[in-house]
Order: sequence, then C-alpha cells, then structure tokens
Amino acid sequence: MANPFDLHGKVAVVTGANAGIGQGLALALAAAGADVAAVGRSPADETVAAVEALGRRALFVQADLSSIEPVGRVVDEVVAGLGGLDILVNNAGIIRREDSLNFTEADWDAVMDTNLKSVFFLAQAAARHMVENSGGKIINIASMLTFQGGIRVPSYTASKSGVGGLTKILANEWAKHGINVNAIAPGYIATANTAALRADTGRNAEILGRIPAGRWGDPADLGGAAVFLASSAADYVQGHILAVDGGWLAR
Ligand code: NAP
Repeated sequence: MANPFDLHGKVAVVTGANAGIGQGLALALAAAGADVAAVGRSPADETVAAVEALGRRALFVQADLSSIEPVGRVVDEVVAGLGGLDILVNNAGIIRREDSLNFTEADWDAVMDTNLKSVFFLAQAAARHMVENSGGKIINIASMLTFQGGIRVPSYTASKSGVGGLTKILANEWAKHGINVNAIAPGYIATANTAALRADTGRNAEILGRIPAGRWGDPADLGGAAVFLASSAADYVQGHILAVDGGWLAR
C-alpha cells in the first residue's frame, strides 16, 4: 500500500519559515518529500539550506505580509520556481501585548493585517491556482486563543479567533474543488513569539503548571500534524482545528 503521508512531488509554501514554528514545519514537510518555498520578509538561508540537505528543492520568496500587496506575486514566483503549488501553510504572524484599556489602533491594525487579512488573501491567491490544478491543501496556524480569550493580547485573540472561522468557511466553499482547509492550533511553543512569557518567571511557572505534558512545545512537535494535514491521509478532513498543545485544552 502506498504511504498516504508521502509528499514527494508536492510543492509546499510556508510563510514565516526563516525561524520558529514556520522553520519547523518547512523541515517536516521536506522530510516527508515536499519541495518547499519559504516566504517571508527576512532571508531564510538556514531553512533553504536545511531543506536542500534533505534532498528537496527550496526557494526563498521575499514578501512582507503586513499588506496583501505581494500575495499574487508570491503564488506566481512559487509556480515559476518550483513548478506548482500544492500545499500552503499560512504561518507568518505577530503578537502585541498591552492592557486592553491602553491598546492602540496601530497595534490592532498591525496584528489583524498580518495574522488575518494576509492569511485570507494569500489563501485566495493560492486557491485560485489550486482550483485550476486539481486541488491542494491549506493549513492555517491558529492558536490556543482561537478557543480561549487570553490576556493583554486583544488583536492577537481577535485575529486567531478569526483564523478559526476562516478555516471553516474556506473549507465549506473550496471542498468541492478538492481543496482541504484545516488549521493547527499550537499550544505554548518555545519561539521568539513567546520569549516574553518565558522570561517572566511567574507567567512561565503558571503556564508550565497547566500543561499536562509538563514542558513547552518545540516547533518539531508540530511537524507530524502538518504532514498529516498536507497529505492524502487528510483528504476527508475539512475545517478542522487540530490542537497540538501537550494537553493544555484538555485541562
Ligand atoms: P516567530 O518565531 O516570531 O516567527 C514568526 C514568523 O512570522 C517569522 O518568520 C516572521 O518573520 C514572520 N513574519 C512576521 N511578520 C511578517 C510579515 N509582515 N511578513 C512576512 N513574515 C512575517 O514566532 P512563532 O512562534 O514561530 O510563530 C509562528 C506562528 O505560530 C504565528 O502565526 C504565531 O501566532 C503562531 N503561534 C505561535 C505559538 C507559540 O507558542 N510560539 C502558539 C500559537 C500560535 P521575521 O523573522 O521577519 O519577523
């Protein structure tokens, strides 16, 4: 029987793949056989070299996803450079922390534009290609704050709750085109995004005390979920938000 998790011959796009979770996801997809386009505003030399070391083709596409201006060009450059676009991982994201009483419009707009608006319009651009090319897989990176409120991160919570809703509506609309749209909701993962939390001794202890697995997650912990949702093993999985959280939500 063919391996349903095999990604050989597929082209995956991962946004924000130069570091953190995006880099971990890019390497997991490459290890499963996919060629990878790393899309982001900062060079992704380390990721490109690591994908190539796994024997796969890699491409860096420079794009600042704080606006939707580059989304069409991103799809065109990936298709021209790697010969297709089968998998999109919408990972790039930012967070701004401040009491909601003091939160600024600039911090609201910056997070919503990158985490939600660009996610939608890049998915739209990729899906237009996928509709013409027998389907594909779209994986959005959600959050525990897709399900919970959090504290001091109002635009982040709004954006990631929005990512949950978007994942479902796009699954509803695009399933008929052979496109699966799903999300991964990471728990607390040790990256730059959570450096401030880990540096705060009190918050760090509070968070660790609630994680049944008893540790922060590593970007590599998310790789299996991404390979699954990117593969034909997930052909009948639609609009699902898969928590990979060491048990946080079960608590
Ligand atoms: P990270 O290390 O800060 O990585 C964020 C990535 O997004 C970086 O590659 C960053 O590029 C990129 N990015 C940010 N703004 C961008 C823009 N305007 N244009 C293009 N790329 C941009 O954080 P991370 O933890 O890996 O976060 C990755 C995703 O996981 C985010 O969507 C985040 O919300 C989500 N997430 C993280 C956690 C966690 O515990 N870490 C939990 C749940 C969800 P630069 O290097 O150029 O800034």
